[in-house]
Amino acid sequence: MSHDLIVIGSGPGGYVCAIRAAQLGMKVAVVEKRKTLGGTCLNVGCIPSKALLYASEMFEEAAHGLGPLGVVVAPPKLDLTAMMKHKDDTVAANVNGVAFLFKKNKIDWVVGEGRIAAPGTVVVKGADGKEQTLEAKSIVIATGSDVAPLPGVEIDEKTVVSSTGALTLAAPPKRLIVVGAGVIGLELGSVWRRLGAEVTVVEFLDRILPGMDGEVAKQFQRMLERQGFRFRLGHKVTRVDKAAAGLQATIEPAAGGAAETLDADVVLVAIGRRPYTQGLGLEALGVAMERGQVVIDAHFATNIAGVYAIGDVVRGPMLAHKAEDEGVALAEILAGKAGHVNYDVIPGVVYTTPEIASVGRSEEELKAAGIAYAVGKFPFTANGRARAMRHTEGFVKVLADAATDRVLGVHIIGFGAGEMIHEAAVLMEFGGSAEDLARTCHAHPTMSEAVKEAAMAVAKRAIHV
Ligand SMILES: Cc1cc2nc3c(=O)[nH]c(=O)nc-3n(C[C@H](O)[C@H](O)[C@H](O)COP(=O)(O)OP(=O)(O)OC[C@H]3O[C@@H](n4cnc5c(N)ncnc54)[C@H](O)[C@@H]3O)c2cc1C
Repeated sequence: MSHDLIVIGSGPGGYVCAIRAAQLGMKVAVVEKRKTLGGTCLNVGCIPSKALLYASEMFEEAAHGLGPLGVVVAPPKLDLTAMMKHKDDTVAANVNGVAFLFKKNKIDWVVGEGRIAAPGTVVVKGADGKEQTLEAKSIVIATGSDVAPLPGVEIDEKTVVSSTGALTLAAPPKRLIVVGAGVIGLELGSVWRRLGAEVTVVEFLDRILPGMDGEVAKQFQRMLERQGFRFRLGHKVTRVDKAAAGLQATIEPAAGGAAETLDADVVLVAIGRRPYTQGLGLEALGVAMERGQVVIDAHFATNIAGVYAIGDVVRGPMLAHKAEDEGVALAEILAGKAGHVNYDVIPGVVYTTPEIASVGRSEEELKAAGIAYAVGKFPFTANGRARAMRHTEGFVKVLADAATDRVLGVHIIGFGAGEMIHEAAVLMEFGGSAEDLARTCHAHPTMSEAVKEAAMAVAKRAIHV
């Protein structure tokens, strides 16, 4: 046996699983077909998108946000080359960081495409076509996900792009069509709108951010419209044609009806992602699959002994931190410990202006489950720190069980929401109540006081509204 554990894929699921397993004394190899470690998230996902979101937010802030604070700046100039370098440097620092951690934990990094030839055996094909065989007691599939294609639309990553191409455009397009009003489409649409593009979002459903709390999504849509976003909800893009002066997208009402065309310079296809299992040999091995996902039990085990799966390739939200927590839990289970992931408390963040963050259930989910709940809401317009920073857009909403007061969901739309959400996550991990949150002293003046006030509002005793 060459190793105790072989992990296929080095995204947040795979690399974190490998490090935790090494910490627990296992001899670990990670097979990765990309040249660098870190998977989708570090190379073409979370990290580069956040580098561009931050830089473009600063650009917009410098153009419009500083005057009222008494900071007068000459109209800012965009240096897209420098902005892209910031993004690339950020990616490099992160992927090199994982390589350092592999060295520190004595993890073998095997470059090439992995295939599970038999339980306990992984064959790795290098770029030169040469194959090597690794053996281990346990194998983890952590091969992640890939862009979901849009029928009738061919992605060339130049003018018709996926999220990957949208991270490397050579210039801001004059007109950008984003297909899909999910997190990735709205984040990358925000980047290019801030840098000068006219953005139209075409969405099949009649709402944006499907799955998020409906009230939050509705208010957010209005905010985005004020920023200049245009929405064509309830429509689908059926084809994109290359015309003499750019692109022409054909859109049709989802409910049926007359087609129309929209002109664009770039079309971003962001209708979702699908599990990636190509070339792994799962069919031949007899691994059970469902809707493209690898089927696992509560301990991440597939139906084939010794073969496990985590991250985007299995059920659950396609989020980096969900993949990471599964990686840790699985490594601990393999080491004979009690690894566990609480799927009821996985925060989700949309890194737009303002940010949106939520954890737990939405009002729609509670209604569908027939759970009686109380709502406490607090607007940032009534928060002193928000006024001091001119970030008064948005609100906090706390949903608590009507009978027990236990917090079931927290939804925040506002500046810094992605950081504030974690006090709610900790509270929920401990099964805390709205009263627990309301009686926890919060520093003044902070945006987080709005979280406390929303919890107080559950019992109708908020002070500042
Ligand atoms: C633009 C964008 C922005 C995102 N932003 C966020 C965000 O802000 N927050 C968040 O939580 N999530 C975000 N995500 C989602 C996040 O990237 C994924 O949920 C996460 O990367 C999943 O991790 P994973 O380990 O399951 O797989 P991945 O990160 O997809 O990694 C899988 C790895 O496996 C490798 N691989 C596949 N098959 C083989 C094989 N046969 N042999 C060897 N190697 C193989 C691939 O090359 C890849 O490197 C974003 C995604 C995108 C596209």
